[in-house]
Amino acid sequence: MSEHIPSQGTDLADLIVHLARLGQSCGHAEGATPLTAAQWTALRYFARANRFSRTPSAFSEFHATTRGTASQTVKSLVALGFLERKSHASDGRSTLIEVTAAGHAQLRRDPLRDLRNVLADLPDNARAALASTLTQAVADLANRRAAPVFGTCGDCNHLDSKAHYCHCTQSLLSLPEMQAICVDFQPARLRGQS
Ligand code: SF4
Repeated sequence: MSEHIPSQGTDLADLIVHLARLGQSCGHAEGATPLTAAQWTALRYFARANRFSRTPSAFSEFHATTRGTASQTVKSLVALGFLERKSHASDGRSTLIEVTAAGHAQLRRDPLRDLRNVLADLPDNARAALASTLTQAVADLANRRAAPVFGTCGDCNHLDSKAHYCHCTQSLLSLPEMQAICVDFQPARLRGQS
């Protein structure tokens, strides 16, 4: 199969938006309850976010939407039985959002899995270069818009990696938590800039 190289005239921003929309289109989510793109994004977010980030307001920042819209999305998923509110008073937050068993079953039919498979089939070096380039682009765009960047502990300025301790939340972190996305993430490359 011949390799197709995009021409110089290709608008990369258009291409990225098109890829995201195609990946989220629900044509291949057989057996799944129909959800809007925003509902799918919320469900994925709460399945991947750490305990400091499983709130509607953190989701509103992740999804670059208003708190009101984010709350409505969460409310609709609670009504469908895919999310639930749980008390986590020990974390200083009265309520966190958790994905239910039905929500996890829905996620196993996530239409985004086709895009994940396509990306997983890329050669290792191409996938690593793409990950690095997109991560940089996300950080640069978020910086321009004064928006938070979401990431995981391994790439975060707040982590004491020897102690598995977070200086921002002043918490010890478990290994699974260190792989979850976080609203308080600060890219290590910005060290010294804040
Ligand atoms: S180290 Fe960074 S990413 Fe991890 S919990 Fe702390 S702020 Fe969040």
